[in-house]
Amino acid sequence: MESTETVLDVAELGRSYEKHRAVDGLSFQIRAGEILGLVGPNGAGKTTTLRTIAGVLPVKEGRVTIGGFDLARDEERAKRVMRWIPDDPQPFDSLTVHEHLEFTAALYGLADWRPRAEELLVRFELTEKKDAFGGELSRGMRQKLAFCCAWLAQPRLVLMDEPLSGLDPRGIRSAKHEIEALASTGTAVILSSHLLALIEELATRLLILDRGRNVFTGTLDEARERFREHAGSSLEEIFFAATGESGGSAKA
Ligand code: ATP
Repeated sequence: MESTETVLDVAELGRSYEKHRAVDGLSFQIRAGEILGLVGPNGAGKTTTLRTIAGVLPVKEGRVTIGGFDLARDEERAKRVMRWIPDDPQPFDSLTVHEHLEFTAALYGLADWRPRAEELLVRFELTEKKDAFGGELSRGMRQKLAFCCAWLAQPRLVLMDEPLSGLDPRGIRSAKHEIEALASTGTAVILSSHLLALIEELATRLLILDRGRNVFTGTLDEARERFREHAGSSLEEIFFAATGESGGSAKA
């Protein structure tokens, strides 16, 4: 979906743990309908960035604006337009799958949500587990439930950290399809993953992080152009060129 509407604006975001600079002056934007592939080596600051945008960590330096709401000053409204799917979602032990959807509907003030919830349970193959408690679900099922709750809320922004890591092959195929379908309705998606083939397949734009800094933002074609002297055409080669000793100096 083509759109110029900015859903997420991250400006000069920074975070230090003791003396370690985990995120350093990070700025980027996402428009409605985009799938931004977030990649970077271990420790590059991806999870810290996502947890800050999700409101799990406070914004200490810089500014995060979601759907026009400043996350630090208008936290409730900013969080209402966003969903965060961590790599190992932890549902409530004492709520069933269906009750999680009911809880999500109440939280987001959704009307007539039941038919849509039923449809999502079918699409994510959770119908049989509808009455199972959160604590009884396998890792892949917990991920599928997180997808269902996020999709039900119809947020303007979804953040995903390694969203496919616990899924079986059928689950991976349908999740990829669902992520693209969600983006086509105008939801902006950040997809953080070490699976470069997945990023290459789904992402409409890339953000490459290295040591907390934005070393590249743009489309895959733009990345090929930027790193053509160092790399071939695959994202893997671009990744090494952008985050290697020599590629680390390349600025967005
Ligand atoms: P990975 O690909 O391994 O998941 P990442 O890109 O998600 O890595 P982060 O988890 O954001 O990276 O970590 C960025 C840096 O911040 C790392 O050097 C890490 O050791 C440090 N860090 C993260 N969380 C903490 C914490 N709670 N206390 C101290 N240092 C932390």
